[in-house]
Amino acid sequence: MSLIDDLSALIGARNVIGPDGDVEPYVVDWRGRYHGRADAVVKPGSPEEVAAVVRYCAENKIALVPQGGNTGMCGAATPMEEGRKAIVLRLDRLNRIRSISPLGDSISVDAGCILQTVQQAAEEAGRLFPLSLGAEGSCQIGGNLSTNAGGTAVLRYGTMRELCLGLEVVLPDGTLLDGMTALRKDSTGIDTKQLFLGAEGTLGIITGAVLKLFPRPRKRAVALAMAPSIEAVCSLLAIARGAIGDRISSFEAMSKPQVEIIKKHVPDVGIPFELTLPWYALIELSDTLESTDLDGALEALLGEGLEKGLIEDAILASSEAQAESLWRIRHSVSEAGKKEGYVVSHDSAVPLAAVADFVTRAEERIASVDAEALVVMHGHIGDGNMHVLGIINRDGTDSAENVKKRAAAISLAVDDVTMELGGAISAEHGIGITNRERLGRVANPAEIALMRRIKALMDPLDIMNPGKVLPVA
Ligand SMILES: Cc1cc2nc3c(=O)[nH]c(=O)nc-3n(C[C@H](O)[C@H](O)[C@H](O)COP(=O)(O)OP(=O)(O)OC[C@H]3O[C@@H](n4cnc5c(N)ncnc54)[C@H](O)[C@@H]3O)c2cc1C
Repeated sequence: MSLIDDLSALIGARNVIGPDGDVEPYVVDWRGRYHGRADAVVKPGSPEEVAAVVRYCAENKIALVPQGGNTGMCGAATPMEEGRKAIVLRLDRLNRIRSISPLGDSISVDAGCILQTVQQAAEEAGRLFPLSLGAEGSCQIGGNLSTNAGGTAVLRYGTMRELCLGLEVVLPDGTLLDGMTALRKDSTGIDTKQLFLGAEGTLGIITGAVLKLFPRPRKRAVALAMAPSIEAVCSLLAIARGAIGDRISSFEAMSKPQVEIIKKHVPDVGIPFELTLPWYALIELSDTLESTDLDGALEALLGEGLEKGLIEDAILASSEAQAESLWRIRHSVSEAGKKEGYVVSHDSAVPLAAVADFVTRAEERIASVDAEALVVMHGHIGDGNMHVLGIINRDGTDSAENVKKRAAAISLAVDDVTMELGGAISAEHGIGITNRERLGRVANPAEIALMRRIKALMDPLDIMNPGKVLPVA
C-alpha cells in the first residue's frame, strides 16, 4: 500500500491530498519566503483521527507539520524536511465550538476553530474572548496557542498562555492527552499544558482547548495621539496607566515612516491627519459599565498630554465607525510593509522602562550597518513589544544573496540592542525557521540544553515539526 492509500484508510480519501494534488497553498508560508515540499496534506476530522495519523507517522518515522491558518510570521508551519517523507496536518475540520459557559467564563473549542469564530461565539453569549490580531479571520486557535500569540489586547488580558485553562493534545507517540479542564486554580504537580504553549508544534498536536472568557465591554473610547518623540509616547502611557488603570485595553504606537507606507500602499485606509510628527499612538479604553465616562477619561488624558507637551494633537473618535477606521490604520501595517520591499522584521520584547531606549538605539544601530534601509516601527508599546522593521530592496534590484547579507546584518544589530536591554528576540511570533540561528546566538545555553532534553524525551523519533525552533546543534 502507498502512503496515500494508508492515510486514506485512516481518515478517508477525500481528506488526503497527494503530492500531485493542490498542495501548493500548504507548503508556502504567509510571507512567501519558504517553499517546502510535502508527500501529503491530511485533514483529519476528530482528535481520534489526528491520533491515528500521528501513530502511523511514528511507526513509519514520517515527519509531521501541524498547520493552522498558515499565517505565522517565521516559517514554522512550512514543511522543509529533506531526506524523509513529510506530511502537513491541517486542523481545518476540527472546527467545533464544543461548549460555552457564561457562568464559568470559559469556552471549550476544537483547535481548528478560526479565531474570529471564537470571538463571535463569545459575543453571542454576552462575553469577550479578547485575543485580537490582524490575521484573526484566518488564523486558528491551535496556531495561536502554539505561537503564544499576543496581539492588541495583551496589555489588559495577557497572551495566549494566560488565556488558556486546559488543552487536549496528541503526543508524538499518538497518545491522546485529555486536559480539557476549566479550572482557575490547579496545583497538582507540573502544569504539562505549558509544554505545548509556544512550542510551535514541536512537542505534539493541539486538538482542543478551554479558553478564558471575560465580561463583554459595553462601551469603548478610541483616540489617536500625535507625539513629538517616543519618550513622550512612553510618558503618556505611564500617565494613562496611573489615571485609568485596567480600562486601557490597547496602547499601540506607530512611527511616522510606518504610517507613511500605509498611506502609500493601502489607499483604502484613509489617514485623516497630516503626517508631521514622528510618533502616533492609538489608545483604546473600554468598560463593562455603561455609566463610565470613558470619553471624559480619554479627553482628560489627552488634555494632560497636550499641557505637558507629550502630544501636539489628537483625534478622539466620535463614532464606532471612526474608531474602526483608526484601528484599520493599525491593522494595515503588515500589508504596507510587504508592498514596500523586503521586510527584515523583529519581534523584540524589552522591559517597559527600556522601550524608548530600545527604539532610539535600534534605529541608530540599523543606520550604522545599512544606511539605505527604511526603518519603520509599530508595536504593542504597553507590552514592551516594539516591532522594528528594516525594509530593504525597495526597488527590487538587489540580488537574493545581497538581501540575505543585509537582512542578517540588520537582525544582528537589532538583536544586540535587544539583549543589551535585557530583552527577548521574540515576544509573540515565535522562532520557526527564520529565527533559529538568531536564537542560537543569544539564548541562554542552559535553557537551550533543557529544551533539547525535553524534545528528545517527548519526541525521540523527531517526527514532530522537525527543524523548527531549536537552534542547529
Ligand atoms: C496580518 C497579520 C497580522 C498578525 N498580527 C499578529 C499579532 O499582532 N500578534 C501575534 O502574536 N501574531 C500576529 N500574526 C502572526 C500569526 O497570525 C499568529 O502567529 C497566529 O497565532 C498563527 O496562527 P495560525 O493558525 O495561522 O498558525 P500557523 O501559521 O498555521 O502555525 C504556526 C505554528 O503553530 C503550529 N501549529 C498550528 N496549529 C497547531 C496545532 N493545532 N497544534 C500544534 N501546533 C500547531 C505550526 O506548526 C507552526 O509551528 C499576524 C499575522 C498576520 C498575517
